Amino acid sequence: MALSILELAEDEARQRGATAIRAIAVRLGEMSGVVRDALEFSFEVARNGTLAGAASLEIEVVPLATRCPACGDVPNTLHDLCLLCPDCGGRVEIAAGRELEIRYVDLEC
Ligand SMILES: [Zn+2]
Repeated sequence: MALSILELAEDEARQRGATAIRAIAVRLGEMSGVVRDALEFSFEVARNGTLAGAASLEIEVVPLATRCPACGDVPNTLHDLCLLCPDCGGRVEIAAGRELEIRYVDLEC
């Protein structure tokens, strides 16, 4: 996954004619299935030889947010691994916390 982040960042850098990438900032959902340490490590390995060879990776962790179609925003129910609404017992949707996306790329032109 560090590779796909790097590829996206490099595409962006090329499109804007940048010579290097200074930093890549990403949003990492707590429920994305990606461990922050693993992402940092694979980024350090994968950036070698790319435009992001000296770039830093800034990770913003997005907490899980759940939403009930009937009741609206409901408290995070992850702790008991039960994604059911505490109010009506219906199934809740994950509104945030699954993303792994680039926030911005800091380019050197
Ligand atoms: Zn509900």
